[in-house]
This record gives sequence, C-alpha cells and structure tokens, in this order.
Amino acid sequence: MTVLQKSDFNKKIFARIEKLIVDYKLIENGDNIAIALSGGKDSVLTLHALTNFKNKLQNNEFSNESNSNSYNNKYNFDNNDFKDIDFKLTAISVDEGIEGYRQHGIDSAISNAQELGVKLIQKSFEEEFDFTLDDCFHLFKSACIPCGVFRRNILNKTAFEIGANKIATGHNLDDEIQSFSMSFARADTVKFSKFGPKLDVIHPKLIPRIKPLWNTPEKDVGTWAIMNNINIHLDECPYSSLSLRGKTKEFLNRIESKYPKTKENIMKSFEKSLKIENPEVKLNECERCGEPTSSVVCKACEFVDIIKK
Ligand code: SF4
Ligand SMILES: [Zn+2]
Repeated sequence: MTVLQKSDFNKKIFARIEKLIVDYKLIENGDNIAIALSGGKDSVLTLHALTNFKNKLQNNEFSNESNSNSYNNKYNFDNNDFKDIDFKLTAISVDEGIEGYRQHGIDSAISNAQELGVKLIQKSFEEEFDFTLDDCFHLFKSACIPCGVFRRNILNKTAFEIGANKIATGHNLDDEIQSFSMSFARADTVKFSKFGPKLDVIHPKLIPRIKPLWNTPEKDVGTWAIMNNINIHLDECPYSSLSLRGKTKEFLNRIESKYPKTKENIMKSFEKSLKIENPEVKLNECERCGEPTSSVVCKACEFVDIIKK
C-alpha cells in the first residue's frame, strides 16, 4: 500500500489550484481579491492557496521550481505566466446566526486569517438586517434560500466597499457538480451560465466570482485539512441535510461509492457538452438598497419585507 506523503500531497493539491489560476487567468496583475471565508475547509484552503500563491510570486519561487518540480512540468507551467503579477487579498466572514454551529467557523476564520497575515472583515446578518438565520428560516421552504441571498448580498456589498474586483469562493468540484445537477433537475438553464471557474463581469456593482477549487474534489480538501492539522470546523450545518443540495450530495456520493469516477465523468461531460454562452442579462440597481438585481427590488430587500411583516 502506498503511504500518502504530506509534502507530496500538498504539492499536488496546490499545483492543481495554481494551474487552474493560470489556465483560466483567475488572478491578474493588480487584482484586489476578497475571499469569502466561512471558516469551513473549502474557504480555508482557498485562503491558504491564494496566500501561498502570492508568497511564491513575491519570493520568485516559481522560477526556482522550474526544473525540479514535477508538478510544474506535468502541468507545463511557463514561468513567464507568473512574471509581474501582484494582487491584494482581504477575507470577509459572514455570521448568519446559526446557534451552536457558526461560531466555530468564525473562530477558525479568525485564526487562519491571523496566521497567514490576511486582513479579515467580519460581518453578520444581525448587524446588517437586524435578524439571524435562526429567526427567519421557518418562513422559507429551505433555510438555504434566505441564507444564500443574504450572504451573497453582504459579500457583494462589502467587496464593493473595499474596492475588490473579484470574490474568491471555496466552491469545489463536488459543489459545482451538485449545482449543475440541481439546475438540470429544475430545468433552470439560466443558472448554467454560473458554471465555470470564473464568472464574467455583468454589472459594475456585481463583483464577479472566481472559484480556485473548481476542479478540486471535496475529499482532497478534507485530506489536506486533516493531514496538515488545519484549524477548521468540520461540522455540517444543521440545516444542510434538509436542502435539495444536501439530498443531491448524498445521492452523488452514493453513486460514486459504487461507481468510482462518476463525479469526474459528470464534470467532463459538462465541460465537453455545455459550452454555453452567457445569456444577455440586464441588471438594474435595486430601488431600495442599490444592489444589482434583475428586478426592481432585489431578493434581499424582498425577503427583508417578508421577514419584517
Ligand atoms: S447549508 Fe444552507 S443554511 Fe447552512 S450555511 Fe449553507 S446555505 Fe446556509
Ligand atoms: Zn435591495
């Protein structure tokens, strides 16, 4: 049996992320990147990967590795790809207000950001909207609906305020396949345009997302966190199993355990068959809060009305 060596595993996982960054130009010179840092394993790996990438650029380490790092050779890195790139990193955490769960995440966001010297901005539903997710989840079909809407609203507003031009999220390969399968199941083809490691700029106030873990399987993220003794919270959100995403995740994991490589194959099929052009989306600014929206009033303001009533 081959023993998985920590240093080999780390090189491999970071090289895959770095290759994705280079191939898809996720990071460009002068970028100001806000990382959505929940304190879970995915966002914490994103924070470590982008910080490592930045440090390697500053220390000129990609040039030093050119002939010795088999991962670079395997992925055909061209050191010129990295020349003259510098970028800024800030982390943003959002406390949704989930009793007995979220605080662990916030603690790990604080300690990881501190350890890596990245500034962390802490936000919360309570401070922004005057209620927590625990207060309002029962008004919706799934807690994930208001959770996603309010979290995206806070992240976008905060990223815009600090002048960020990209938001890096911890979406991994499993998340992407789940999202895609859910869109299929709902015949929601408009959401297909959100597939991919880098989303386009469609409105000056809507900060586009990048997903550095887009092709990293969830199990590799977990292995990295455990092998490196990273301070993260591994608990599942108490609301997650009730959501369509939770059920889709269980379903895909069950199939994968019987038929390995199913997830990888689904991803390959998506990549091959779905070269979808982004639909023309005309966004307005919400007449209440000014955030970008396809309606007159944004979803966050619409939900606030439902909750306050
Ligand atoms: S599982 Fe749903 S409710 Fe829990 S943090 Fe994620 S989106 Fe929010
Ligand atoms: Zn609004």
